[in-house]
Amino acid sequence: MESALTARDRVGVQDFVLLENHTSEAAFIENLRKRFKENLIYTYIGSVLVSVNPYKDLEIYTKNHMERYRGVNFYEVSPHVYAVSDNSYRSMRTERKDQCILISGESGAGKTEASKKILQYYAVTCPASDQVETVKDRLLQSNPVLEAFGNAKTLRNDNSSRFGKYMDIQFDFKGAPVGGHILNYLLEKSRVVHQNHGERNFHIFYQLIEGGEEDLLRRLGLERNPQQYQYLVKGNCPKVSSINDRSDWKVVRKALSVIGFSEDEVEELLNIIASVLHLGNIQYGGEDSGNAYITTDTQIKYLARLLGVDGLVLKEALTHKTIIAKGEELKSPLNLEQASSARDALSKAVYGRTFTWLVNKINVSLAYKFFISAVLTVPFIGLLDIYGFEVFQHNSFEQFCINYCNEKLQQLFIELTLKSEQDEYEAEGITWEPVQYFNNKIICDLVEEKFKGIISILDEECLRPGDASDITFLEKLENTVGGHAHLTTHKLADGKTRKVMGREEFRLLHYAGEVNYNVNGFLDKNNDLLFRNLKEVMCMSDNKILTQCFDRAELKDSKRPETAATQFKTSLAKLMEILMSKEPSYVRCIKPNDAKQAGRFDDVLIRHQVKYLGLMENLRVRRAGFAYRRHYETFLQRYKSLCPETWPSWQGKLADGVSTLVKHLGYKPEEYKLGRSKIFIRFPKTLFATEDALET
Ligand code: ATP
Ligand code: MG
Repeated sequence: MESALTARDRVGVQDFVLLENHTSEAAFIENLRKRFKENLIYTYIGSVLVSVNPYKDLEIYTKNHMERYRGVNFYEVSPHVYAVSDNSYRSMRTERKDQCILISGESGAGKTEASKKILQYYAVTCPASDQVETVKDRLLQSNPVLEAFGNAKTLRNDNSSRFGKYMDIQFDFKGAPVGGHILNYLLEKSRVVHQNHGERNFHIFYQLIEGGEEDLLRRLGLERNPQQYQYLVKGNCPKVSSINDRSDWKVVRKALSVIGFSEDEVEELLNIIASVLHLGNIQYGGEDSGNAYITTDTQIKYLARLLGVDGLVLKEALTHKTIIAKGEELKSPLNLEQASSARDALSKAVYGRTFTWLVNKINVSLAYKFFISAVLTVPFIGLLDIYGFEVFQHNSFEQFCINYCNEKLQQLFIELTLKSEQDEYEAEGITWEPVQYFNNKIICDLVEEKFKGIISILDEECLRPGDASDITFLEKLENTVGGHAHLTTHKLADGKTRKVMGREEFRLLHYAGEVNYNVNGFLDKNNDLLFRNLKEVMCMSDNKILTQCFDRAELKDSKRPETAATQFKTSLAKLMEILMSKEPSYVRCIKPNDAKQAGRFDDVLIRHQVKYLGLMENLRVRRAGFAYRRHYETFLQRYKSLCPETWPSWQGKLADGVSTLVKHLGYKPEEYKLGRSKIFIRFPKTLFATEDALET
């Protein structure tokens, strides 16, 4: 049999706190590499799970595997996302405290896959009743639906989540999942009308075109060729080798009915999806400076039918704008550019609001039916799967929001892990030296502070009448926060950085690295305006989904709606509050290479992620006092056989038992400390020696 030592050489340690050279980043990465080569994608830092995307299917998610982790302590089995799932579940059950599992990592690192594995684990291992079976199914089936409408192929990930998602799973007193609720965050709507080269629109469009039945497509007036649609050709990437749109269509259709969408609702939903494609194909004629007119009447005909609106009214609304001034309605014609952007604004609004409707509809279907009687006693486990930090060649408003969100999550991670570590030492009555770490609060403040944060400055420009533009926004940034250590612009940069920065860019030094943002489009995207007459047309629609999405009350409300960034900021603040109230567990996902390939471990890329995920700091904190801690009971259970003179006949207090045992094992006083309920072991080698003694 392979000795414990040689096994460690080959597969590394399963918990980084056991690394001999724990301050060395090289040793950290070497350990990850060893494990990755052996298909061991999971490793702990204490209770934090680090996961490296294998980019291939591993046989580690079977029902047998699930059983192996059920009700078993963290350290007794190899690291797994199921262990984290089970641990949260048990804490929820025994302590009756709400839990949350926070999954982070950059785009393509495996967050969504991890969240699906967790959900599957609960669906399979938790107790169930007949009623519960449908809830489990619905919880599982909500994924393909939301992914179809909210995920897309990007350069980083073939199935990239383009919205943030927080899902609460509710359990009854027997521990059976009985309901759920989803909060969604900022869908990347701009993708509906534009995709960068090599990227696609949301999956649902291709699924419908490739998989939709003949008579369905005929009814919707669609051709079976994505290249026919302006909104699908921008990225020049209709097919993706890892995606089968046709079979995905079947999965989504089935999922919609499991969740409880009626046939009528599905029909109306698809009418909307098809309408967006027809909208994209509307073309305009006219001189650059003159009034635009529509040259594609077929599209208008389909749109009128699919949306249940008057074709002439729609046509008028797509070429004119109305504003209310001093109580009077003023109508003016649009030029070519204005008309195209009004059309695109309509497509984005229709798609974005339909997505929100979809989430609400799923929530109705997942709602716990006995909620009223049990409202105070149902514990939750929350799953957070939100877009990862991303940097492209060209970064815009969307990346700015996504990366800001990641700053907030990092902030939460810092506060909660360091705080809980400190709390544990305190609770156990152990003294320790706090560790220094980089606190990214300074960057969060730079973005979100009232009056002088970037979002405030952007909103101010959005509200300012007159000559406000993306460039004046940039200038205002320079004047207001130009001196900030984490912000640079072309004008402010020294000669060295200037070369790599465009004139229309500002650069943020994020906790995860530098990102240049091009201000082009910031004002429009933040304003997110839709002309009044287009809203009016949508309010007149026969489509029941659209009438829920576009409310007449909105037309009467003369107040300016909140900007996109401010809405996002508010919803993130609420999310942080929710997460702070729960007991957190962490899954930190790492992407091994940029080629989406199995077996490739790219050192540079991984080092970068280890750095910005703060994993070395995490490890340092974990090791600062004591590398290892175990409950007295667990410790005795595992090692008492090493002291056969005393056990099994020994009886007495657990703490005294542990004290006797470690003396027998020859632990020196500086190697350990006894807390109130746990033993703290300072060096990994002490525990190794004890583990090795078990093997022999
Ligand atoms: P984004 O922020 O773009 O949404 P993400 O972190 O959610 O990215 P995923 O979509 O979960 O990334 O993963 C990307 C791809 O990597 C998956 O489609 C799958 O092919 C592969 N993958 C991720 N995790 C695993 C895993 N545990 N086993 C096998 N393949 C995986
Ligand atoms: Mg994802």
